[in-house]
Amino acid sequence: MNTFNRLTSVKEVCECAGLPCPAELEAVSSPLKMFTTPYYAKLIKEANFSDPIFAMTVPSPEEVNAKNDCDPLEEEKFMPVPGLIRRYPDRAVYTATLNCASRCRHCTRRWQIIEGKDSVWKETLPKVLEFLKSHSEIEEIIISGGDPLTLPDDELIEIVSAFKRQGIKVLRLGTRMPVTFPMRVTKDLCQKLKAYSPIWIQTHFNHPVEVTPEACEALKNLVEAGFPVNNQTVLLKGVNDNSHTLEKLFRLLIQNSVRPYYLFQCDKIPGTERFWTSLETGVQIMKELRERLSGIAVPTFIVDRPALEGKVPLSYAGAKNNELVFFE
Ligand code: SF4
Repeated sequence: MNTFNRLTSVKEVCECAGLPCPAELEAVSSPLKMFTTPYYAKLIKEANFSDPIFAMTVPSPEEVNAKNDCDPLEEEKFMPVPGLIRRYPDRAVYTATLNCASRCRHCTRRWQIIEGKDSVWKETLPKVLEFLKSHSEIEEIIISGGDPLTLPDDELIEIVSAFKRQGIKVLRLGTRMPVTFPMRVTKDLCQKLKAYSPIWIQTHFNHPVEVTPEACEALKNLVEAGFPVNNQTVLLKGVNDNSHTLEKLFRLLIQNSVRPYYLFQCDKIPGTERFWTSLETGVQIMKELRERLSGIAVPTFIVDRPALEGKVPLSYAGAKNNELVFFE
């Protein structure tokens, strides 16, 4: 099923953006299939990898032979039942679907989403709820994927209400839909979800060109319905690895009542090498952002480590012997 009128080849993406398709990329494909929405494709201004949207959407030739079974955070080891990833005592991630509106070339969960199945929740949710019954210490569920907003409203509400009935106190919804297909975030959907508040929304804007009038409308719908909205950005070489681009992005986000929450170091997944920056690059960018932005616009820079090490915040200063120490 081609939902969201998705474009599934570089040629279609270029045609939609009104750009000539580079001959060497016309036939490029990847085991992690490429697709995107016409809306997102139209944000491309140049059909080459120096364009941030093109780079995040189109597989690079070196990606073709990459292994796609790499689970960089070793999440599979932490699945007590299929679909539930539990790396912390009090919270867990639930993979509701393996589908997305647009495939990001830097996706961390490519080992899992590569199958692209729609409604995996129908198979996994009953067992997950059964597991939660005997684990009342889990108070928070992050409904993720894939992108849960690819599901029809009634399926999404069924999942959300099932967790609430189970006694889950806080829900988070991780979605890139405000970025790749903002028209999905309707007032109607927000009103339906509002009944199950608190639901924290986690978006994934990586570049200021993604903050379009349509995206702002989607964010307004979420904010006006009372959802706190946090954004997670991935630091991507050639896309946003400089403080000027990120400053612009974070200013736009706070102007739309979205909190820049995390800036992630790109995980070391085979096939994504072109996006990798050094840790020092990220720390230097954070230093420059701190000098120019107010605290509410500055995210925490995070390296996500495998297994139980979890999220490690990085800064340019620390403490030793009760003294402030600045790193070089
Ligand atoms: S929307 Fe999320 S799950 Fe889907 S490809 Fe992008 S990063 Fe991966």
